[in-house]
Amino acid sequence: MMGSPIVLKLFEHDETLARGVFRLIKQQENRLTVNRPDSEVMAINHAAGRHPVAVSPPVYQLIKRAHAVSLLPGSAFNFAIGPLVKRWKIGFQGNSVPPKAELEALLALTRPDGISLDDDTHSVFLHQPGMEIDLGAIAKGWIADAVRDYLRQQQVDDALINLGGNVQTLGHRTERCWDIGLKQPFAGEDALIGVIEAINRSVVTSGVYERYFELDGRCYHHILDPRSGYPLDNELLSVTVVSRESIDGDIYTTLLYGMGVEKSLIYLADIPQIEAIFVTRDRRVICSSQRQFSFRLLDNSYRLERG
Ligand code: AMP
Ligand code: MG
Repeated sequence: MMGSPIVLKLFEHDETLARGVFRLIKQQENRLTVNRPDSEVMAINHAAGRHPVAVSPPVYQLIKRAHAVSLLPGSAFNFAIGPLVKRWKIGFQGNSVPPKAELEALLALTRPDGISLDDDTHSVFLHQPGMEIDLGAIAKGWIADAVRDYLRQQQVDDALINLGGNVQTLGHRTERCWDIGLKQPFAGEDALIGVIEAINRSVVTSGVYERYFELDGRCYHHILDPRSGYPLDNELLSVTVVSRESIDGDIYTTLLYGMGVEKSLIYLADIPQIEAIFVTRDRRVICSSQRQFSFRLLDNSYRLERG
C-alpha cells in the first residue's frame, strides 16, 4: 500500500483486528492519493483554476496543517509541489533530468500562497490551472497516527506499525522498549547503522536512498527543493525524527532536510518535543538530543556525535 511495504506487529493472534488496521490504511490512502484520479485530494487538483472543492473535515485539517508548514519562511516543505513531483516522476520510472526552463515554469505553479482555504466550508481552492497538491511527505505520518489511535480504541497495549519507514509504536511489551533500526543509506534492507530505543514514540526517516535514479554519477532523489525545483542537495543522506506524533515526524524530516545539520540543531534547541538523528555523506551520525530515546551505534564505520 502507498507504494511501500507495510508491517504491523501485534502480540495476540487477531486477524479481525489486523484486517481492521489494513482497511483503515486503505481508506485513508484512498482519500489522499494523487496516483489515482478519484481521491479527495485529486478532486481539489482537478478543479485547479476553476473552483473551490469541499473535503471531509479530517482531510481539511491535514491540508490546513500542510498549508501552514509550507508557508513558514524558508520552508523546504511545500505541499503545492505536485507539478514538480509529477514532472520528475522519481520512483515512477523517472530517469532523466527535466530541462531547467521547464522546471522554472513549473516552480511558478507550486506557490503555497496560491492556495486558499475556507474553514467554514472546509474547501480548498488552487488559484491557477495546473497547480497540484501532493501530500506524499505527510500522509504516512497522519495514517500511522490514525492506526495508533485505532489500536488504542481496540484496547491494544503493545503494537508497532511501519509504513515504509514511518514507524509508530504503542507500549513496549515485555522488553524495555522498542528497538527500531536506523538504516544504512544505499545498503541492503537489513543493514543498520544503529538502533533507536523508544517507548510510545514515532520514528520517521526521510532518506535520499528511498527513491532515486542515477545519471552521470549523480543521484537524483525524491525529496525536492521547492526553491530550486531540483532534489535537495546538501551534506545529508537521511534525517530521522523521534516524536510523539508521527505526523510531526513526517513534516519535520522534510523541514530539517532542507535546513541541513547546523541550522537544524539550532532550530531544534527550542522544540523539545522533536528530536532528530542526521546521517551525513561523510558517515557521521548526529543526534540532536536523546531525551525521548537512546541510540546504540552498531556500525563502527560511522562516527557518533552529539548535537
Ligand atoms: P517523505 O517520504 O516523507 O520524505 O516524502 C517524500 C514525498 O513527498 C515525495 O515522494 C513527494 O511526493 C513529496 N515531496 C517531495 N519533495 C517535497 C517537498 N519539498 N515538500 C513536500 N513534499 C515533498
Ligand atoms: Mg515526510
